[in-house]
Amino acid sequence: MERLQKVIAHAGVASRRKAEELILNGHVKVNGKVVKELGTKVGSNERIEVSGIPLEREEPVYFLLYKPRGVISSVSDDKGRKVVTDFFPENKKRIYPVGRLDYDTSGLILLTNDGDFANVLMHPKYEVEKVYVAKVKGIPIREKIKQLEKGIKLEDGKTAPARVKLLSSDKRKQTSIIEIAIHEGRNRQVRRMFEAIGHDVLKLKREKYGFLTLNGLNTGGHRELTPHEVKQLR
Ligand code: URA
Repeated sequence: MERLQKVIAHAGVASRRKAEELILNGHVKVNGKVVKELGTKVGSNERIEVSGIPLEREEPVYFLLYKPRGVISSVSDDKGRKVVTDFFPENKKRIYPVGRLDYDTSGLILLTNDGDFANVLMHPKYEVEKVYVAKVKGIPIREKIKQLEKGIKLEDGKTAPARVKLLSSDKRKQTSIIEIAIHEGRNRQVRRMFEAIGHDVLKLKREKYGFLTLNGLNTGGHRELTPHEVKQLR
């Protein structure tokens, strides 16, 4: 048995908050009867209607994908480019990515059909630590690394403190490999942070999302999260 608002959110119809509003406003029926109690628990065989439309209930699923470069973090693309859901041909559920990675960024991205879970993870207050490895142009001096750590002024505001580690530099090629851990998830944030210190990103990969890593996966590969992992992330 699960709470009604959670079941509605899982079905991808609304966020949990919206689902609560729908219930309170009398838009939700269980087995033909309007239910306005937020605490109502429903079993898997009960018929739920939201604004007169039967709810298609799906078991929630949670995947971790090692996204290759050259893939869109979306469920479809009007230009016909490859999208993250193309890597799940066996999955018949309506999964979608939790947040985004740029087309040219590779690495760890989660996909789910659980709207509630996705909303929690993407909420700015919650934002888990994400660890990226960037190959950048040039060799940043210590002062520039410090700026990244303290916070950089971008056009959408100053970035929160970050952990930054210069892993290696190639003097001949004038490139560096840098690890950067951030909690925020603004659009093209890591690329813009490096641009701001004058070291453009040549390659970017997300290696970690909270405690989750890419261990055991090849590029393009995926696995399901364990129930324990899902619990820990919530
Ligand atoms: N920061 C970026 O600049 N790009 C990503 O894909 C993720 C974080």
